[in-house]
Amino acid sequence: MLDYIRKLQDNIYLAEIPLKGNPLKAINIYIIKTDDKNMIIDTGFNTEEILDYTKAFIKDLDLDLDKTELFLTHLHSDHTGLANFYDDLGVKIRVSSVDEQILEESMEKEDPHWVLTQELGHMQGLDIDGLDIEDHPGFKFRPRKKFNFTPANPGDHIQVGDFNFEVVDLSGHTPGMVGLYDKEKSTLFCGDHILGKITPNIQFWNYEVGDSLGTYLKNLEKVRDLNIKHLYSSHRFLIDDVAERVEELKAHHQKRLDEAVNAMTKKDCTVRDITKSLQWDISAKNWDEFPKSQKWFAAGEAHAHVEHLRALGICDFYKDDDGVLYYYLTDKK
Ligand SMILES: [Zn+2]
Repeated sequence: MLDYIRKLQDNIYLAEIPLKGNPLKAINIYIIKTDDKNMIIDTGFNTEEILDYTKAFIKDLDLDLDKTELFLTHLHSDHTGLANFYDDLGVKIRVSSVDEQILEESMEKEDPHWVLTQELGHMQGLDIDGLDIEDHPGFKFRPRKKFNFTPANPGDHIQVGDFNFEVVDLSGHTPGMVGLYDKEKSTLFCGDHILGKITPNIQFWNYEVGDSLGTYLKNLEKVRDLNIKHLYSSHRFLIDDVAERVEELKAHHQKRLDEAVNAMTKKDCTVRDITKSLQWDISAKNWDEFPKSQKWFAAGEAHAHVEHLRALGICDFYKDDDGVLYYYLTDKK
């Protein structure tokens, strides 16, 4: 077997593919290989290098693509970037309707998703950072054209060999992230819902999706209460103790919420102000040194935290004449 492929249990393989220059370091692509059907979970970015890795693992594991399906846990480009490669070969692609809709709206720079991302940047106070959508990794490595798909929505069942998967709602990290859970085999493919070492990025999407951190925390507890022996995450090492990791992730977000409240006790804050006041696990010494690509994510994450506080009634916002949002603690006013 190739050195980046490991067999994890009967019929399940992991191909760990490097994501060069990205803080995520690598993506874990899972392959379920059975006599009658195979399933590949996620794709990696749309780059030549990852395409070469992909072709190599397909050959090495001797996967017959005529009996292979691709399952996309969520819309992010490190999970969907090569969807067109599989689609062109006639592979059936499953993706949740919610994330598929956003993907369809993010093909071109002028499409609603990227227009909204730029509007949010303005509302968050990021104009002075001179960010361009071209710096956004989600934009850079996106799939370039629409692909055929079959919806995979919470509650659906998918059979792969002896695996009887239920599609489970893991929204939070994206509005439509889904996992594959086999109750009898206590196995969950969880996408980016729970990761080892790093904390999944929780973004503010828009006011229709609303409190994405609240949704995420609720789905963390849901997964903690499932019976899971094998948790297969999309990045970094595999987690043994799911309940312990869930508690660590909850504590991480609580600390950030406290930091955001603290910042608002001093003055009314833009999302950019809140972002700068949070602690980030990144080598950059200060906000000016943050890579532009990461400023998008950091501000989106800070925004998700203040919106969670707003959902709890702890803060609210007003808009200045320019449309920039200012958040303040409600008990102060
Ligand atoms: Zn992701």
